[in-house]
Amino acid sequence: MNKKPQLFNDIIIETSNFCNRTCNYCPVSHSPRPQGFMSNDTLQMIVQELKHIDYSDKICLNLYNEPLLDKRLCEIIACFKRNLPKTTIYFASNGDFLTLELFRNLIKSGLSHIWLTSYDKNNEQSLREMYRRLNKEERQRLNIRFFPEHKFLDCRAGSLPELCNKVLRQDCFRVNHQICVNWVGQIILCCNDYYATFVLGNIGRDKLLDVWNSDKIEYVRENLRRKDRSVISLCKQCNAPYDTPKSYFFERLAWSAKWLLFPVKKA
Ligand code: SF4
Ligand code: SF4
Repeated sequence: MNKKPQLFNDIIIETSNFCNRTCNYCPVSHSPRPQGFMSNDTLQMIVQELKHIDYSDKICLNLYNEPLLDKRLCEIIACFKRNLPKTTIYFASNGDFLTLELFRNLIKSGLSHIWLTSYDKNNEQSLREMYRRLNKEERQRLNIRFFPEHKFLDCRAGSLPELCNKVLRQDCFRVNHQICVNWVGQIILCCNDYYATFVLGNIGRDKLLDVWNSDKIEYVRENLRRKDRSVISLCKQCNAPYDTPKSYFFERLAWSAKWLLFPVKKA
């Protein structure tokens, strides 16, 4: 039976591929790719395409990058929100460049929330201080977790060979829910395709909707539905553990709940 998924509910857009950190479990630190910012033309094309299909779900503004390094970020968010008012715009960040003022400007521009990972004691302190100054509504928009308590040992579909420790026989929810565009405008199979080894199309040449409904991605889905990752070269190396929307949901819930374990004292 053909179980073609409905439209994606999360579009991941790599607005640049710059990062200031060198986390040892991240491919950014091991094998850097050519670097740059996504062009404004590419961003505009994505906005117009999403507008055309009346997209109303999630927009993530990071992939292998620290989004706060992009000076255009507030502008980009405002542009997406203006054209796609029903969407939920978010990104993940290391928080190194987050200030209270910037956070408020991002929210004012239309950002819904930030998933933030605090990597060391230095920024943990300043983030706690900033968090303390947020009002109740603002706090709901900032989810913080503390590393290294969270162990992220996914091999990024083979980009980190030393972490490719097991062959999984599992489906993968990503191809049924998310679509990813890297900073050069390639539409890639999933968020684990760091080197763009499985390109489904290109912004400007192919329509997101056509890519989403293409035989190429349906072939991947078919194999994953059978829990067979061996057929697709990228998937066969992948030990991504978040194989269902449910487990992904609990992962995010645990992230949000971190502040319960590390309560912030009132001013
Ligand atoms: S901060 Fe994020 S993008 Fe940057 S190196 Fe670490 S994990 Fe990778
Ligand atoms: S199995 Fe891994 S490589 Fe394949 S689509 Fe899922 S996350 Fe991507």
